[in-house]
Amino acid sequence: MKTQQRTLAIIKPDAVKKNATGDILNSIYAAGFRIIGMHMLEINTEQAQGFYAVHAGKPFFNSLCTFMSSGPIVVLALEKESAIADWRKLMGATNPANAEAGTIRKKWASSIESNAVHGSDAEDTARFELSYFFPGYELF
Ligand code: ADP
Ligand code: MG
Repeated sequence: MKTQQRTLAIIKPDAVKKNATGDILNSIYAAGFRIIGMHMLEINTEQAQGFYAVHAGKPFFNSLCTFMSSGPIVVLALEKESAIADWRKLMGATNPANAEAGTIRKKWASSIESNAVHGSDAEDTARFELSYFFPGYELF
């Protein structure tokens, strides 16, 4: 059996508002991920700042945290082999202007900030981000 890997995905407020959640979940299943945790919730700006602490000090940080707390989000724990890289590939480039055809951001992102989805970028960030939203016992 190949090694399974976990990653944290978020359907961001812009995509939830566009009713893109079902379409994005379909893409996730079609790409072979298993959803082992899922919550819909709203976070406040302090919680967004904690989640995105790695970006503190960047020019877009405050605006990003305001955006991420502007409405409901769906947080997902995903599992498959190479989940981190494969989810980032399915998301597409951060700036939708550069996102490849067939990616979620190409289809649903409105701007470099309101770009529909989040994905962890490495094993250590995935561990931190999964624990930010899911106590281990909640994952299936
Ligand atoms: P990714 O989400 O692709 O990993 P980053 O980690 O670089 O991208 O940035 C985190 C999030 O911050 C992006 O998804 C996007 O919502 C926002 N962001 C990144 N760069 C910019 C920018 N130049 N202007 C506005 N928002 C940005
Ligand atoms: Mg990132």
